[in-house]
Amino acid sequence: MTSDPLVARMRPFGTTIFTEMSALAARTGAVNLGQGFPDTDGPEEMLAAAAEALAGGANQYPPLAGIPVLRSAIAAHEQRFWGLTRDPDGEVAVTAGATEAVAAAILALCEPGDEVVCFEPYYDSYAASIALAGAVRRPVTLRPGPARRFEFDPDELRKAFGPRTRLVLLNSPHNPTGKVFIPAELKLIADLCREHDVFAVTDEVYEHLVFPDAAAPHVPLATLPGMLERTLRISSAGKTFSCTGWKIGWATGPARLVSAILRVKQFLTFVNGAPLQPAVAVALNLPDSYFTGFTAGLRDRRDRLVDGLTDAGLAVLPSEGTYFVTADIRPLGGEDGIEFCRALPGRSGVVAVPTQVFYDHQEAGRHLIRFAFCKRPEVIDEAVRRLKG
Ligand SMILES: *Cc1c(COP(=O)(O)O)cnc(C)c1O
Repeated sequence: MTSDPLVARMRPFGTTIFTEMSALAARTGAVNLGQGFPDTDGPEEMLAAAAEALAGGANQYPPLAGIPVLRSAIAAHEQRFWGLTRDPDGEVAVTAGATEAVAAAILALCEPGDEVVCFEPYYDSYAASIALAGAVRRPVTLRPGPARRFEFDPDELRKAFGPRTRLVLLNSPHNPTGKVFIPAELKLIADLCREHDVFAVTDEVYEHLVFPDAAAPHVPLATLPGMLERTLRISSAGKTFSCTGWKIGWATGPARLVSAILRVKQFLTFVNGAPLQPAVAVALNLPDSYFTGFTAGLRDRRDRLVDGLTDAGLAVLPSEGTYFVTADIRPLGGEDGIEFCRALPGRSGVVAVPTQVFYDHQEAGRHLIRFAFCKRPEVIDEAVRRLKG
């Protein structure tokens, strides 16, 4: 009994780079632009509604699928922004963040050995959830193209599909690259899903964070022809309402897919965040001005950081959306992002994250690092001042 008790399929997943880099930030007093969490609170109406619900007795198990007022608000939000009509009773499930929705979707839909097509670099929970299900990931690599936007090779995507493909896991707007998938890319993904008769699971937690200079606005994959019936759309309050610690997410889609998720979710967490659920309903029902103001605020911070990184000598790739911007370290003589990020707090007092940890084919991202700009303007300005020094 002295050997590692951890199951083999989880052994490749050690401590995440965020834990290492955040500890480094704490130890060195560096400005932490590594992990993507905001340093300000979300809308006041939402915070007040949570306090009221907590004091008002909303502290016991809510229904498995989420409280009705939140499910209605999720459906109304999807109708308002994306023209998607959902039945709050059956086509909407509230989850413990987008992370649980992604995990439950993969566990509910994939038999051991089934394949999941995804794009690398990928959000770190995807590989672990696929491994937990005993499924196999088939990553397609995103690389900066002629216009320096991240792109994939259409043939590589076609070849990733095969007889064992069960689903495509698509994150757009995309973390960590800041890429927004454009209509031609979405069309190819949708065509392949229909041709191979597979499901799509879409992680759209940055649905409200596409900047006006993006190559295209955000389009949910579910709105493409023939996709509604085979797509689970996932989002979360964390990023849109600056409450990443609340872990209130949701999945919407056809009733057969939503009920499959709920079957698994029932035995993962069952439910979470009773007093937070009515508060997120209030937030989802905020007027359009909240959402446009939120995007504009983040755009200003992106611009501050991009200008500063460029002045500091990094080659900055376009960030079309999300909380993140990617930079190439080679103009500063860097080769390996992990080494560069380990040295950066001591050298410049700033923490960033090496993008290569989000790839299977790490070589493709070896020279790339990611900065988060979801921080107060003065924090970004301080980071920039240090980087220039
Ligand atoms: C932050 C993030 C999540 C996690 O969302 P939670 O609601 O906190 O679970 C999922 N996917 C992506 C791409 C993210 O950036």
